[in-house]
Amino acid sequence: MQITVYISATLRTFVNRKAKVEVQGNSVRDVLQQLQDEYPDIKKAIFEEENKLRPFVNVYVNDENIVQRDGLDTLLQEGDSVLILPAIAGGAPVESVISDERRKEVSLDDSEIERFNKHLMLRDIGVKGQKRIKAAKVLVIGLGALGAPVVQYLAAAGVGTIGIVDFDEVTLGNLQSQVIHGTRDVHRPKTASAKDAIRAIYPKIKIEEYKVKLEADNITEIIEDYDIVVDCTDNYKARYLINDACVLLGKPEVFGAIYQFEGQVSVFDAKTGPCFRCQFPAPPPAGLVPTCAEGGAISTLPGIIGSTQANEVLKLIIGGGESLNGKMLVFDSWNLHTSILPVHKNPKCPICGRTPSIYQVEDFNYEEFCGLQQNEDEIPVEGIEAEELAARIERKEPLTIIDVREPHERAIHRFPSAIAIPIGQLARRQKELDPDVDTIFICREGKRSILAINTLREAGYKGPMYNLKGGIEAAQNIIFSHEGAWL
Ligand SMILES: [Zn+2]
Repeated sequence: MQITVYISATLRTFVNRKAKVEVQGNSVRDVLQQLQDEYPDIKKAIFEEENKLRPFVNVYVNDENIVQRDGLDTLLQEGDSVLILPAIAGGAPVESVISDERRKEVSLDDSEIERFNKHLMLRDIGVKGQKRIKAAKVLVIGLGALGAPVVQYLAAAGVGTIGIVDFDEVTLGNLQSQVIHGTRDVHRPKTASAKDAIRAIYPKIKIEEYKVKLEADNITEIIEDYDIVVDCTDNYKARYLINDACVLLGKPEVFGAIYQFEGQVSVFDAKTGPCFRCQFPAPPPAGLVPTCAEGGAISTLPGIIGSTQANEVLKLIIGGGESLNGKMLVFDSWNLHTSILPVHKNPKCPICGRTPSIYQVEDFNYEEFCGLQQNEDEIPVEGIEAEELAARIERKEPLTIIDVREPHERAIHRFPSAIAIPIGQLARRQKELDPDVDTIFICREGKRSILAINTLREAGYKGPMYNLKGGIEAAQNIIFSHEGAWL
């Protein structure tokens, strides 16, 4: 009888990228045999020797795992569906991402034997492991606080090819935590500064520089050649984009994130475990959760989190150890509390689940998904320039200014004439606004204030509302220079 076999995204490279295949058979064993006859490459992906299923592969018949039925001998009925899904990793040992052929292509010279001596003496690394590290190609996306330790430790460990992606330039405010850049690098591209740092650590490393903003139309081309991708970014759009491109290309991704005193690390590899979308199916509305740039972070935290990411990268290259695949390490540096939480694969995940809906990143609207795009039926939020606001205050025009920043942010630059109302309290406290005068909303960068205006509109507030364009950042030199009036 005809049975539909659904193929998990990570196994699709073995079946000409098909999401489902129709085969004939009366039992799971028959069906898998038919599948292998048609697509011989899938055999090594799902079976061990002696035709036993590999430990990380689960087979479901109509949503029930066959281990709960008769295993491979489970009988099928007309209309049944079979799903092949790699299980959550955990028990399975980490296999090296570097093939033996690639390892054998490289050799270590005398100076490398001396340089990597402390790796060579470790039984779990040794010459084989060090050659794998030399053969490896790792892409680090984001050269900020997390990217800094990741890049430096990967370079020091001897990773043969390091790709570095960042479109930004170094600022003075970066130096508190981005230890790969120095005072002399301010205003230089971060890629140039990071390249110098890698060269200084180990000149033999091949460095690929990408001074670009990652988008759906360039990411595939950039990450294609790498074995592992390290996500050191600070925004949701980039995180989903990186995740999706990694899932579609079958690349493992090492994820890191920091906020104030807390950090997270995980390994997402949809071939053997969950992906970022499995854990976070949707981002919070734009502006609701402050980014690390808005919320701040203690300077040492990215060192701890980034080094842990680099450590995960090395284990994936060397092969072995316990991986954070299927787990998330959460570290609270202030209270010294560490937890390792399980992360489950979501069978309904739109990219790595059973019936995916995302087949290529170009077709997915990341801007809209992350709430960064104006909805067509939404009334656009009107902005006001800092100069105009300064002039209106100077003229003593009747105005209400609402500061939606967090208390610690207000402590840095206080807006004396502003009423502080956090976004969460706006709807309830709308009586404090006068609908007959203009209300100007301010935040740090001018993004959360847009969310504030939309929140109030939804709550039914009808008065005129304006967003301070670029937020306090843009107004700093204009408004705060009027010292007499403002401070
Ligand atoms: Zn997923």
